[in-house]
Amino acid sequence: MALTESVAQFPQALSIAGSDSGGGAGMQADLKTIQERHVFAATVLVAITAQNTLGVQDAFALPTTLIDEQFASLAADLAIKACKTGMLADVERVKAVVANLKRYNFGPLTVDPVMIAKGGAPLLSEAAVSTVRDELIPLATVLTPNLPEAEALTGLTITTDQQMHQAAEQLQTLGAANVIVKGGHEANPELANDYVLLADGRSFWLSSPRIKTHNTHGTGDTLSACITAELAKGADVETAIRIGKAYVSATIAQGIVVGHGHGPLNHWA
Ligand code: PLP
Repeated sequence: MALTESVAQFPQALSIAGSDSGGGAGMQADLKTIQERHVFAATVLVAITAQNTLGVQDAFALPTTLIDEQFASLAADLAIKACKTGMLADVERVKAVVANLKRYNFGPLTVDPVMIAKGGAPLLSEAAVSTVRDELIPLATVLTPNLPEAEALTGLTITTDQQMHQAAEQLQTLGAANVIVKGGHEANPELANDYVLLADGRSFWLSSPRIKTHNTHGTGDTLSACITAELAKGADVETAIRIGKAYVSATIAQGIVVGHGHGPLNHWA
């Protein structure tokens, strides 16, 4: 018999992502973030990277049978209330993750459509971009592309606010219920402006001062993990997104020195 049959379960969230051996991004950033938000984190590991703050040296995608087994293990025991995807590597892995997300109910899904690491290393094959667009995005409760990812998914060139609106609308048409287009890659030297389009049609901008720092490794993972943790605790989407933006800004603002390249965020900030 199970040990805790009738005891209320602690909030649990799931990260479906790739490992960053350097500890700053990927699964490791997700775990640190979810833990800091006082939610229990479970993981489905999709790929392993050999990586540090200077870049990605190697990557290996796990067999889909092992991905299936991780999902099955969690579904058999845990009470996951929200989940997110990060690095998914290639078409085969995206399809495996999509099949498992349809098989089990792990609550609202936040999709961080990770494509290329800051140093330029591909974390998703080019062939898989259309698989993400056509098969994963329709499952997303929240979609969190940065500008290059939004451009790859929509075919738009995004240099103006108007084009950010247009991209968010197009991504919603593809099936993502709520979309946040992150403007951190914009040319604006003063502000990092994110555009949010909610499922009910409301939209707003989230702005934070642009901080001059090398500690930006794992910002996307941290935002989507924070949103996931808040959704696991029962927050509504707008609140989860607002908390996510504030959390990422705080972790960037007080950078810590680790390594010699793009350093990690400060999760104790
Ligand atoms: N490595 C892994 C495994 C990731 O999932 C990600 C982002 O999602 C990165 C690296 C890239 O992080 P960044 O572009 O913030 O350096």
